[in-house]
Amino acid sequence: MAKIGINIATGSLQQAEMIVGIDLGTTNSLVAIIHPESKQPVALKEFDNSSLVPSVVHFNEFGNAEVGEQAKLFLETDPANTIFSAKRLMGKSFNDLKENANFFTYKVIDDNADSLVKVQIGDRFYSPIELSSFILKELKNRAEHILKTPVSKAVITVPAYFNDAQRQATRDAGKLAGLDVLRIVNEPTAASLAYGMGLQKDEEKTIAVYDLGGGTFDVSILKIAGGIFEVLSTNGDTYLGGDDFDHAIMEFFLGQIGVPFHEINNDKSILQSLRLIAESAKKALSSADKFSAEWSGYNITITQQQFNDIIQPLVHRTIDCCAKALTDAKLTITDINAVIMVGGSTRVPLVKDSVSTFFGQSVNDSVNPDEVVALGAAVQADILAGNNKDFLLLDITPLSLGIETMGGLMDVLIPRNAKIPNKAGRQYTTQKDGQGSMRISVFQGERDLVQHNRKLAEFNFTGIPGMPAGMPKVEVTFLINADGILSVSAKELRSGVEQSIEVKPQYGLTDAEVENMLLDSITHAKADMAERALVEARTEGEQILDVTEKFIAKNTTLLTKAELIATGAAMQNLQMAITLNDKNLIQTKIEELNEISRPFAERAMDAAVSGALKGKKV
Ligand code: ADP
Ligand code: MG
Repeated sequence: MAKIGINIATGSLQQAEMIVGIDLGTTNSLVAIIHPESKQPVALKEFDNSSLVPSVVHFNEFGNAEVGEQAKLFLETDPANTIFSAKRLMGKSFNDLKENANFFTYKVIDDNADSLVKVQIGDRFYSPIELSSFILKELKNRAEHILKTPVSKAVITVPAYFNDAQRQATRDAGKLAGLDVLRIVNEPTAASLAYGMGLQKDEEKTIAVYDLGGGTFDVSILKIAGGIFEVLSTNGDTYLGGDDFDHAIMEFFLGQIGVPFHEINNDKSILQSLRLIAESAKKALSSADKFSAEWSGYNITITQQQFNDIIQPLVHRTIDCCAKALTDAKLTITDINAVIMVGGSTRVPLVKDSVSTFFGQSVNDSVNPDEVVALGAAVQADILAGNNKDFLLLDITPLSLGIETMGGLMDVLIPRNAKIPNKAGRQYTTQKDGQGSMRISVFQGERDLVQHNRKLAEFNFTGIPGMPAGMPKVEVTFLINADGILSVSAKELRSGVEQSIEVKPQYGLTDAEVENMLLDSITHAKADMAERALVEARTEGEQILDVTEKFIAKNTTLLTKAELIATGAAMQNLQMAITLNDKNLIQTKIEELNEISRPFAERAMDAAVSGALKGKKV
């Protein structure tokens, strides 16, 4: 069976295509997919067997961009044309960055401090969106090369603390790279999904996600309930990460060989080469006790204990952030059901131990911390693609949901493509005096008349207390939960009588049926509009006949004989027009009847008013 997805951006239906998950990181980026056979998330690897693409863009002398490992080589030799950490610039102005302006070895334009930053390469200016799009384009090409199929849809992750401008910038970067960004997902949410957390309907958990990357640290406290992820709090430091460990080691080495930092500070390429060797030392120390090497003719060496000592204050700062995040979430350590480790720097043993000690539990680190975010993005992508049939987290309603109102019209409460979960309500009333029940029929579809839509459920709302027509206020509420289960409830507001049922809107409809229903609604749109107008006119006509009849029965004495005859004739004409199903004729006859009845309706009103005044004995 062909699978059909709904494009959230355009609302259009389309054939299934693999949707990839992308972790667009400050330091490293990567793509993951759900393996079509194993159904498990996997990071895509090129022949070099590495899934990570360094988030580095180098511009050569012709102004052409290269991305990834090749670009990283130029960090040392061509720092002015080698862009790293472009993610930090997303949605930022120079004013936002000026405190850390020294951080960048390339030219960040500072002439217009309040507008969004640009980076200057030669005589060209690049926005952070363009720079990120180079990275995304590289990831897209890579994925297409490995999968041997076009890739045009992606889920991209961003830090939970990213604001709207930063999220939008990320979306735009995706678009510029030729990707349809179906969803921007928070990195901690993706990490949880990669551990399978949040995939069970009845699961309720509070988790801490500790993410220490190359240049940034963040911790998020998430609450998962019924497939919904809520960010309770985030904390962190956008200038604290593995790079700071590298710097600490650089200073340690310089101290060891007796060269003051300021002596090499202006030589950016020496600085970079020292940085690279420091990073190798750090990585080695995640599994070895000691690291030794030769650098610029010097012997340098560091032990794990020395490393721990110099980074202890930095690690401590991350733990302070964890404590603050807990306080902000109004929680204590005992409320945390799981701790997830994300980011390459969580491989450092001191980091792992400190986090585990702080939270008083062992941490989840079995999934590769470099890949965990991308893997979770792939899980989310698979859910959006509708492949994960056991997990029915729908994002949008495929078809409109509504109830049948007078004349068989479809009254839409939740339109097609509405976000899920969702809630909508509307008030209805009775048509007849003393009406004690009301039939609530729930339909799905785009046509104006319910007869062309699909009936999902029906129930008789009983127990409405006896009242004149139009008096009861029956509020019908549609609630779709995160699983796509619709419950419909009706409540009479004056008496408080209430009833509800549960409906499963999407079950039983094949994708082809959904598509057909949508096509139908387009083909029949004109005819439907005409029919709706007729039904509405007919309903209005019937109501007016009903009201007039009651009025005459009650107020016969107020009318002259001539008026009675004229009214009777106009009523008959209207009745005839209704029988003939002629919309225009019905409207004309409604107007004629109104014309005749207006004078005595006014008289009746006056009588009622003066009666009321008399009663008050003014
Ligand atoms: P980001 O999310 O910022 O893109 P990553 O999660 O890819 O960053 O983490 C990159 C950081 O992880 C770098 O500072 C890198 O040096 C560090 N890192 C990678 N592997 C190790 C390791 N084995 N030990 C310590 N740090 C590591
Ligand atoms: Mg990251």
